[in-house]
Amino acid sequence: MTLLAGRRVHALTLTELHEALSRRGVRASFSSVFRAVEHLEREGRVARVDLGDGRSRFEAAGPHHDHLRCESCGRIEALPRCPVTVDPPAPRGWYLHRHALVVSGLCPGCARG
Ligand SMILES: [Zn+2]
Ligand SMILES: [Zn+2]
Repeated sequence: MTLLAGRRVHALTLTELHEALSRRGVRASFSSVFRAVEHLEREGRVARVDLGDGRSRFEAAGPHHDHLRCESCGRIEALPRCPVTVDPPAPRGWYLHRHALVVSGLCPGCARG
């Protein structure tokens, strides 16, 4: 599961993770990938990411970041800065604990096409 630890790997679905592992020559059944990810999530090493499309996605647990998603090819990247901490959106008196932000648009490849 070192695959998920890569900082460049963002918010993979179980299907994508399973495919990526088999491309690397790892022979694992879908259900064993599922169990491994659930185990890592319980240990706090993997975080579940909700990009609002109803699919469970996973990535290495780490510092907070938000996500960009390409509407055309589905590419996902991290936003370089969290817009909520740069410019807090809450009215006076609110203490913010958690948020998950997904910005959608077109990636450079799709925007050129
Ligand atoms: Zn991410
Ligand atoms: Zn794209």
